[in-house]
Formats: sequence, C-alpha cells, structure tokens
Amino acid sequence: MLSKTQNDKVPAGWEWVEGVIDSAKLPYLGLPVKWDTTQEKHAKIIFHPETGEIIDIPSEKHSKNKNAVGFITATKGRNPMPGAETPASVRYTRFLEPCLQDVLITSATGGSLVPCIAHGDYVKVESLESDHVQPKETILKRQQKLVAKLNEDSQFAEFLLTRPGMNKFFVNYKGKYYGTLLFYELYFNDIDNIWLICDACNSGKSNSDVFDWFKSQWLYGEEFLDYLTKQQINDKGILIKTQNQEGLALVAIEWFWDRHANYKSVAKKLYSEIVVPLQILNMRVDHVVGMGNQIRTERLQESLLAQVLFAQSAVKAKIGMPRGSQESPHSSSDESYRLGPLIDQDGKPITVDVQMYKEAIEIASGRIPDLLEDVVKEELESASKRRKPDVSDQSQTGNVPL
Ligand SMILES: [Zn+2]
Repeated sequence: MLSKTQNDKVPAGWEWVEGVIDSAKLPYLGLPVKWDTTQEKHAKIIFHPETGEIIDIPSEKHSKNKNAVGFITATKGRNPMPGAETPASVRYTRFLEPCLQDVLITSATGGSLVPCIAHGDYVKVESLESDHVQPKETILKRQQKLVAKLNEDSQFAEFLLTRPGMNKFFVNYKGKYYGTLLFYELYFNDIDNIWLICDACNSGKSNSDVFDWFKSQWLYGEEFLDYLTKQQINDKGILIKTQNQEGLALVAIEWFWDRHANYKSVAKKLYSEIVVPLQILNMRVDHVVGMGNQIRTERLQESLLAQVLFAQSAVKAKIGMPRGSQESPHSSSDESYRLGPLIDQDGKPITVDVQMYKEAIEIASGRIPDLLEDVVKEELESASKRRKPDVSDQSQTGNVPL
C-alpha cells in the first residue's frame, strides 16, 4: 500500500508500477550457468526497442541490435531436450512439468509425442514452441508506455527510482529515462506467460487478441473465459494477471489439465495403444511395398486394413454404460452408444454401477482377441466353402485359374 505522500507522486492509474519488479517471473529450469552475472550486466545496459539501440553504461559503448531481447537459452550441452541442443529456458521448464511428462508417448519412429494443449492432438515434441499467451507485442508497448510516462513526469520518475529494485529496470542516462535490457528481457521470458503449443497453433494465434482467441478454441471457449472472469483478471499493468498474481499461461495450463483430465487419459490410450501400433504396422507394410514384393504387399495391406476395420467396429458397438435407474428417461444424453437395458432371470431390470461396469469391460476386452480370431476363422471357412463350387464350375467350363 502506498502512503499518502507517496500517493501524491504516483499519477492516478499508475499505482500498479510498485509491483513492476516482481511481476515477471524467470523460468526455474535451464537458466545458463552465468545467468546471475549476466543479469547484473543487463541491468546496466540501456535498450531502446524501437531503434534497437543498445548503450552499455559503464563503458559508454553504443551498438544496435533489434533482436537483443529474446528467449534466455540454456548453456550449450546442458539441459538438452528433443529438438533443441540449447533450449529456451522457458521451453525446458514447461516441458519438464509433470502434467506433460505424464502423457508423453513414443511415436512409431521412436521419437516423443505430446499433446498440443491448444488444439488437443498429439504432436512431435520438436514441433512445440514457446508461445507468449499475452502477445509479446502488447507487453512491449506497455513497457514503452511506462518509460514514456517517466520522461513526461519527472516527479513520478524520481520517486519511482527510489523504490527498491527499480534501478535494475530503469535508468536516467544523460537526462533521459530508459528501460534496461534486463527490464525487457525479464518480461519477455516471464514463465507465467509462456506455454508450449504446436507450431501450427502458434502461427494461427500470432498476435490476435488473446481473449478472442481463447473464445474460438474448442478446448477453452466461453467456459474458460468465465473461469478467467472468476479469477478477477487485472489488465491494468504490463502483464495480465489474476487476483492471485498468476499469469495467463499458468492459469490456462492448470485449467486445461484439470478440465480435460478425462481427455488426457483417453487421448494417451488412444494414441499409444491404437494409433501408434497401427502406424508401426503401416510402416512395415510400406517397407514391404518398397521391396516390390507385390503378393506379400497385398497380403500385408489387407491384414492392416482388417485391424483398422475392427478398431472401427469397436467404435460403432453400443457398449456404453446402460441407462441407470436414477437417470431421467428424458435426459438428452446420447443413447446411440449405450447398451440396452439388462434383465435378470426373473425379468427384473439389472442396475449397473460404474465399478461393476468397469470390471465387466476389462474382462470383456480381454476376451475380444480370441473371439475375433474365432470369428475371422469361421468366416474364412465359410468363404472357402462358398468358393469350392466356383472352382468346380470353372473346371467344368474349362477355365483354369491363373
Ligand atoms: Zn496445436
């Protein structure tokens, strides 16, 4: 809280600047070895985002580099992760989070696959990018606006620079206020504003309005916006934060894994136990195709299609839990995938609870492979019987099969 005398020096609407030092948070993993000394150095370097001008205050050395502010990367050879020998520290931190590690699976070619938490499908780890949930352009504009304000209102600027830590972020150089390289760098790397999404989602999101973007995403939508409203979003400072000082990426990530816990387990099973094994089979077929053995190719292709067809049959089968006695007969839930009502020997309806259903499904799914094999054998035997008259027909008419 600002005291009354301090309040006089902070213009109305700029009260949030007191928190500017602690607002952005560094990633907690993969920082380069010498980061501590680098930070000290960068607090003594002036950076001008528009011109890219850089002034090293102790040496008075001027240079220009518009891209001086970017992701802090790990020291070479340390903290490697798939797709990057020197990953951005934010990327590494987010990648190692337990929620993501829990759902990591091995692809058909032996690489790692993870879900993109923006669109939901599994993607290669290499295609994950660090995205600023609140676009970096808006962050930079707000930072520049604050520096401009310091130059407009010298009383405010003088007061602000007496506050603890502010000299790391702002300096007065030859009568003008500037933001330091550390100020821009730290906000750019704020871990609470970074999440990992696939390259396609990242380029689609670009610098569009973040709330509009969430609204248009099937995994977020209005429901997520309502949740954000409940977290009391504060959009007055540089970074958008909740009442608890959590950044948008942190809120979105936590919400995603919580809200879509069911999706998480289903998608992992689906990809690791159905999609990837089928891809591996497909790769074997492709290999044989490449060898030019037509007869073997045809046989393998048909065998693979059979696996896909049976997976499709499982989706079509009405095996969902039957309607419970508590459920209203008028409830609008989809009936098309449920089992019909069950009746016991005395003609009384059987009530199925979740535990009972789960146990039965486990046993039933264990029985399926044998049953399927039997059904396929049976059908092949019938097919063979059906074919025999054809063969004799052909021999009668003198046609010899090729
Ligand atoms: Zn994506």
